[in-house]
Amino acid sequence: MVFSETKTDIAGELDNLLTRLQKLVVNYVKEGQNSDNKVVRYHSPEDLYKLIDFELPEEGAGVEDTFDLIKETLKYSVNGWNPRFLDKLYGGTNPIGVISELLLAVLNSNSHVYHCSPVLSLMEIEVTKATANLLNMGKQSGGVLCPGGSASNLLAMVTARNKLYPTIKSKGYLPRPCDANSEYGVLKIFTSTHSHYSIDQAAQVLGLGLDNVVKVPTDEYGRMRVDELERLLEESLARDETPFFINATSGTTVMGAFDPLDKIAKIAKKYNCWCHADGSWGGSAVFSDQVRKTKNWFHGSELVDSFTMNPHKLLGVPLQCSMLLTPHNGHIMFAQVNSLKADYLFHGNPVDLGAATIGCGRRPDAVKVFLAWKYYGKQGLGQRVDRALSSASEFMDIVRQRPGFMLVKDPCPFLQVCFWYVPDAIKEKVDSWKLDGTYQVNMAKVTRVIQQNINHSGAFLVDHAPLPGLPDFFRVVINAPTISVDRDLVILLDTIESVSVDWNDVF
Ligand SMILES: *Cc1c(COP(=O)(O)O)cnc(C)c1O
Repeated sequence: MVFSETKTDIAGELDNLLTRLQKLVVNYVKEGQNSDNKVVRYHSPEDLYKLIDFELPEEGAGVEDTFDLIKETLKYSVNGWNPRFLDKLYGGTNPIGVISELLLAVLNSNSHVYHCSPVLSLMEIEVTKATANLLNMGKQSGGVLCPGGSASNLLAMVTARNKLYPTIKSKGYLPRPCDANSEYGVLKIFTSTHSHYSIDQAAQVLGLGLDNVVKVPTDEYGRMRVDELERLLEESLARDETPFFINATSGTTVMGAFDPLDKIAKIAKKYNCWCHADGSWGGSAVFSDQVRKTKNWFHGSELVDSFTMNPHKLLGVPLQCSMLLTPHNGHIMFAQVNSLKADYLFHGNPVDLGAATIGCGRRPDAVKVFLAWKYYGKQGLGQRVDRALSSASEFMDIVRQRPGFMLVKDPCPFLQVCFWYVPDAIKEKVDSWKLDGTYQVNMAKVTRVIQQNINHSGAFLVDHAPLPGLPDFFRVVINAPTISVDRDLVILLDTIESVSVDWNDVF
C-alpha cells in the first residue's frame, strides 16, 4: 500500500473500505446485543502480545492484512454494546453515536476558529446554551466543550483563579506570606471527601498544591456537609488563607451522591468563592423531566458559576464529550478570562471558540451531543435516564432481599448499586473478622477475588471500589438502555454466587 499522488480515486478507496467495515461492525454490534456472549475475551498483556502482531511495518500492509488487524482488534476488545458491561460510568454508545463519529472523521474539522468549522462552532454554541437552559442558567448562559470531565474541571478552576485574582495570570502565583503585600493568601479549594480526583489534579496542575485542597466530610449518603464546609472555611480564613474555589459534586463517582447546590452556592457567595459543580456523571440527569420535577438534585443549579457535564457518560454519546457551562456570558466569559494574544490564530471573532480554552486545536465533540439531541429529542434522552433509574431501583430491591448480599447504602442515591457479598462458606470467618479487627481488609479481599474471577471470565465486567472507612464493595453501574434486570442483573447475582474459590487458599 503506498501513498501516491497518482492514486486519485480516494472516494472509491473509502467506499471499498467502508463497505468492508460496515459488515464487520454491524456483526460486532449484533454479537454485543446478545448478552449471553462474552463482554470481553480477557487476556493478560503477555498473552495478548502473542495473539496480536503489534509490530509496525516498514512497508504498508495493504487492505487484507489491515482488515485482519481490525478483526482482531474487535475480537479482543471490550464489547461495549453488551449490556453486561456494568463496570464504568459510560455504557456503550448507539447507532447515531457511531454516525456522529463518522461525520467528525470525514470532516476532520477543528473548532478553534469559526472559519474552519462554521457549522460545528454554531452547534457548540447552541447545544451548550440549550443545556445550560435546562439548568436554569438564564439568557446569558452557554459554554464550551472540553476533552473530558477532568479537563472541564481544570478549565473551571483556571477560570476561577484568573477571574478572581487576575494578577496571577501575568505575574505568577505569589500569595501571602511569601509576598507580604499580596492581595491574597494561600489559595484554598474545598471539595467533599467523595469528590473526583480531578479536582486534586487541577490543583496540582495549577501549582496550588494538593495540601491546599480541603476535603469536606460527607453525610451518610455521601453528600457534602454544608455545616462542615462553613466551619472549614472559617478556619481557613483565620489562618489568613484565601478560599477561592468550592466544588460541589452532582453525582459522585462511587456512590452517586448529589451535593446540595443551593446551599453550597450561597456559602460560596458569602465567602467570595467561585462555585463549581462537577456534574460529570450526574449532570445529564437534568434531561429527565421527572428528575427535574421530583428530585432536588438540581435545586440551585442556576446559582453556580460553572458546571461540568459529560454527555459521554449517562447519555450514551461517544467518548469524549464533556461540557463546561456557565451562566456568565457563556464561552465569551471563558475567552475574556483565559485567552492569550495569539493574533496569528484568533482575530477577535467572538465565535472563535478555541480562545475560550487552554488548548489550541479542538475536536468538535459538540456535534455528537447535538446530533443525539436532534435524533432522540430531549424526551428521548430523558427517558433513557428514567429507564436507568427505574432499573436501578428494581435491582436494588432484588439485592436487598437476596441472602448473602448487603447494600452499602439503602437506598443507593443514584444509578450505582453498591453491595457486599459474603459466600456461605466463609460466613463464620466474617463474624470472627468483626471481632479481631481484620474485617475491612479481609472483606475487601473477598470482593476483589470474586470480582476478578468474573471479569476474567468475560461474562460480565463489574467494578469494585472502597470508600473512606468501608471495605471494597461491588459497584454495578446501571446505565445502558439495553440492560434487562431479569436477563442481566439477576444473572450477575447468580454468577457472583457461583464463583468457586477455595477460600482456604485465600485466607
Ligand atoms: C467521570 C468523572 C470525572 C472525570 O471525567 P473524565 O471525562 O473521565 O475526565 C470527573 N468527575 C466525576 C464526578 C466523574 O464521575
